[in-house]
Amino acid sequence: MLTVSIQRAETYGPDIIAPALIRLLEPFGGMGAFVRPGERVLLKPNMLAAKEPERAVTTHPAVLRAVIGLVREAGGVPLVGDSPGVGGIRRVAEKSGMLAVIEETGAELVAFEETAAVQAGGLFKRFDIARPYLEADKLINLPKLKTHEMMTMTCAVKNLFGAVVGTAKAGWHLKAGADRELFARMLLEIYLIRKPELTIVDGVLAMEGNGPGSGDPRHAGLLLAGTNPVAVDVVAAELAGIPKKLLWVERAAEALGIDGWDRTTIETCGIPFDEAKGPPFLLPHLSDVQFGLPRFLKNRLRHYLTSRPVQRAEGCKLCGICRDACPPRAIEIRHGKLHFDYHACIRCFCCRELCPEDALDVREGALLKIIRKCV
Ligand code: SF4
Ligand code: SF4
Repeated sequence: MLTVSIQRAETYGPDIIAPALIRLLEPFGGMGAFVRPGERVLLKPNMLAAKEPERAVTTHPAVLRAVIGLVREAGGVPLVGDSPGVGGIRRVAEKSGMLAVIEETGAELVAFEETAAVQAGGLFKRFDIARPYLEADKLINLPKLKTHEMMTMTCAVKNLFGAVVGTAKAGWHLKAGADRELFARMLLEIYLIRKPELTIVDGVLAMEGNGPGSGDPRHAGLLLAGTNPVAVDVVAAELAGIPKKLLWVERAAEALGIDGWDRTTIETCGIPFDEAKGPPFLLPHLSDVQFGLPRFLKNRLRHYLTSRPVQRAEGCKLCGICRDACPPRAIEIRHGKLHFDYHACIRCFCCRELCPEDALDVREGALLKIIRKCV
């Protein structure tokens, strides 16, 4: 059986998070079961964008601080690294409150820049993965529990996409992002390249609605931990009330026979599961007809069946971040306005994810409203 530990943490107070974390890791034998003295331990938080901790976009600095403390106690050398979707890592770390924690604790901030080519041996033959991610002695995955417009949920497995460096992410969105099943498979192949020894989920202030960058903070008051990220995601999704048919990563794991997708092989411990489960999270807008229609029909009617990004009437500063991040280059700025090429657009919603002004909205496809009522 796989184990996923659940603990309650109502706030990010230091007297709350650190003891909750110790209880969370007790079933696994504590941090000492994962970290040996002298080992370089890479902590991989969610550092999507430069947003304040209360926006619930990034892993909370209080969780990072508590994990660094336990790694040090076990004799490990803590490193903190990621490749943010937009902006340099230092800027994201500063705004998210992580830089202050890193400096205060003497941990090392590591930018994912240099890569090594890895033969994946799956559908995707080769990935260029950040060297610090591959070379650390131990890897601790620190995701935030959030809804996700493209993948429904982002948590343990999706957080590892940060191992792909900066602009290369856009390339992978272009290769696999138009098809959720394919994208989920790609995420799993990245996970299998370098499995984290431990995953600790920040679900204290989670995100619901149109995550991962523009959703609403949602108090869930939970920390989760496990050694298998797929199993952690399965439990997190169940706690968030997200139906399995919308969990692309878990469905792909089942299709590929990757451990962790089968709920009957997972036991939870810590606080009782029913006590941890709250009302279901508000899901992201339905961006296409995700099931119930044959693929050839979906492809033909794509323009009418899918939602698309649009510029809000107010708020856009014409900074160009969305244009530069768009994998198929489907956005142009002309005459003081954004112009979208919807035939090129793959509906990855990276533009919405990364817009610092929350200036992009979603418009539903004309047939989508009608069809979704019938599926
Ligand atoms: S929509 Fe957002 S990211 Fe795009 S140009 Fe406007 S402010 Fe910048
Ligand atoms: S316009 Fe937005 S949703 Fe469409 S491909 Fe570009 S980043 Fe993705």
